[in-house]
Formats: sequence, C-alpha cells, structure tokens
Amino acid sequence: MEEWRQILADSIVKPKDLADRFGLDAKEIEEIVGPYPMRITPTVLNTIRAKGDAIWRQVVPDAAELADIDAEDDPLEEDLMSPVPHLVHRYPDRVLLMVTNQCPIYCRFCTRKRLVGKPGFLKKGELDRAIAYLRAHSEVRDVILSGGDPLLLPDHLLERILKALRTIPHLELVRIGSRVPGTLPERITPALCEIVKKYHPIYMNLHFNHPDELTPEVKAACGRLADAGVPLGAQTVLLKDVNDDPEIMRRLMHQLLLARVKPYYLYQADLTKGTNHFRTKVETGLNIIKALQGHTSGMAVPHFVIDAPGGGGKIPLLPDDYLVRMNDDEAVLRNYENKRFSYPQSKATGGRELPMVGARASYQDDADAFPSYGDSYPDRDGYAAWGNSCGGDMDD
Ligand SMILES: *Cc1c(COP(=O)(O)O)cnc(C)c1O
Ligand code: SF4
Repeated sequence: MEEWRQILADSIVKPKDLADRFGLDAKEIEEIVGPYPMRITPTVLNTIRAKGDAIWRQVVPDAAELADIDAEDDPLEEDLMSPVPHLVHRYPDRVLLMVTNQCPIYCRFCTRKRLVGKPGFLKKGELDRAIAYLRAHSEVRDVILSGGDPLLLPDHLLERILKALRTIPHLELVRIGSRVPGTLPERITPALCEIVKKYHPIYMNLHFNHPDELTPEVKAACGRLADAGVPLGAQTVLLKDVNDDPEIMRRLMHQLLLARVKPYYLYQADLTKGTNHFRTKVETGLNIIKALQGHTSGMAVPHFVIDAPGGGGKIPLLPDDYLVRMNDDEAVLRNYENKRFSYPQSKATGGRELPMVGARASYQDDADAFPSYGDSYPDRDGYAAWGNSCGGDMDD
C-alpha cells in the first residue's frame, strides 16, 4: 500500500475512537455519522488544540447537524442543473465534474453533505458519459474536477481522467478543487506531481479555513504542487466560530501567501441542511473584506461571494463604501482610510461604455428596467455584435 493510503486508513472514522480520544458520548456521535460520515486524518487530528476550537468545529460531528431539519439538501440546485450524472453545467463556458465523493476529511459544513462519504457514488460508465458530454459541448472551455476530492483518486484513475480530458480540443483549462494538501499532505507525492505536470494548464483551488491548517508539512505539500507548475488558489468558507473574525482571516490569508497559495474565493456559508449552525450574517464577510482591502497586500484579498440559493451561481459582494456616487462628471470614491476622492469622468465620446452601469441609480432593484447580463451577452459572438451596434464607431 502507498504510504498516504496507510495514513488515510489511520484516520478516525469510528465514533468509539473519537469518543475514547476526547471523552465524548459514542452513542450521540453514532447517530450523527449515520447520515453524515466522519473522517479526521492524523494531520487534522494533531492540529486540534482544544475541544471546540476552530479545527475541531470543522471535523467533529455536532448534534446541531441533526437538529437542522427544515433546510434543503441541495439549496444550490446542482442536481437540477446536471445534464448527465455528476456534472453541473450552470455557467456558459465551464462545468463542474464530481469525480468521486470521497474526501480526506468530512467537513461538517459541506455544501454537498447529501453526497459525500457514502458508498456507491460513481457507477460504471458515468465518467465516460460525462466526458462524452464535454466532447459534444464545444462551448465548454474550463472544467473543474470536484467531488468529493479528486486527489483521493488513485494515480492511475486521476491520470485516466486528465488524459481523456486532454483529448478534447476545445477544453482549455482543467481545474482541481481539493482539500488534500491541507489535510493529507503525504498524498502530494512526486509521482502525483509528475502526472499533473503532463496535462498543463492545470490549476488547483485548495480549501483552507484557518491559519492553523498551514503547518510546515502542509506548506511543503503546497510547495511541491507549485514546483510542478500548478498555480494555486484558495477557497475559504466563512464559518461561525471558526474564522468569522478579521484578525483570523488576515492571518489565514498571509499564511496562504507564504504557502504560495493565492486567496481566490471567500464563500458565505450555504443553506445546506445540517450546516446552518455555521452561518454568519452577510455583514461579517463584508467587514472582513473591508479589514483586508488596502490594509494588507492586495494579493491577500479574496473575492467574497454568495452562491445564490436556487442556483443563481456565485455573486460577488463588495462593501458599498467605496463608490460614494457616480454621474457623467465624476466618480466619488472612498478609500480604506475613509478619505474621499474624486475621479473625473472621461469626456471623450463614442467609447464603448455600457449604457447601464454608469449611473448609480441604475443599481436599484428594478429587474424590468434593465436586461439581465444573460440577455446582453448571449455568448462570445453576441458580445461582439452587441459591442458594434451600441458602442459607436471607435475611429470617430
Ligand atoms: C464555482 C462553480 C464554477 C466555477 O466558477 P468560477 O467563478 O469560474 O470559479 C463552475 N460551475 C459551478 C457549478 C460552480 O459552482
Ligand atoms: S473536502 Fe470539500 S467536498 Fe469534502 S467534505 Fe470537505 S467541503 Fe465537502
């Protein structure tokens, strides 16, 4: 057996083992892990400093999961946007492909809590069907391997998938979303890095929520991926009593940059059933962005997004302080120190300005007055046509 498999096998999955280690009630844990499996790798277990701390809350089952009965299993409506099993096609040019439902740890707040860690996920032929779908859809230029955690697949299977994807000419980017480097760093072997290298451009977005997760071993694992030429991003979920604090977030973002990982998204927690005790107010995330932007390296500031309930996709949010007002004469701005500045508008005519985003008044919630983004930009060709008809003659 490969070393990392042995280490994964040494994880805590049985309620009794967890109960013995921390003096908990095994019966209560058993009830929770029935519907929602548990796994805690040695790396993560060793990072827990005290009962109830930020690492503990992410991985130790909590009775609140079962008490959350009114919420929905699939608030993002991923299942409804799935043309073939395990593939979610929500955006015009990119798709999400769930290649496994196994994870190194089972995060208690997982958006796909309905799916992860249960037996019998990928059925024979399903991956082939997903790849056939990608092959048939030439508008897809970006595929995100997700799950579950793609890096838990054995090397030969991961390589088979990457190789098949690279036979599709219109597919430009392959991304992998993973929590493995932060929880099972031993999995990032030289052999894995050699495989990944062959199929560039491959991007990875790694899941990290707390600065304590960036141990020296974890940083070294990220370094191996970076050395293999993989641009690394981070996805962080805003979680109550884990990281809902500007100072913790600042430390996390700094640790990520030290690990050669660029913060990408900060997610507002989803409404998934069994996870609602992790939700914060939206203001918490906005305040965190305000505490970062301008106060530290711009590299350290992720995009704060809400994945809209009902399948609306990711919607970015910025504190609304920065743009005080905007009209044809000027944009009045406020910086991170609360100082005001005026940026005079260009007086040149015949530019390519969009008619609607100019006036602050247009931001008001008036769905009928303005075409939706989708209406204005049906596809890449549509964009060009629209630009020509509305933007005037650029040579004027
Ligand atoms: C997040 C997500 C993507 C990728 O979104 P980006 O903003 O391009 O990172 C694609 N498809 C689905 C279903 C997603 O949830
Ligand atoms: S690693 Fe990702 S997919 Fe797996 S349980 Fe955690 S959040 Fe969910």
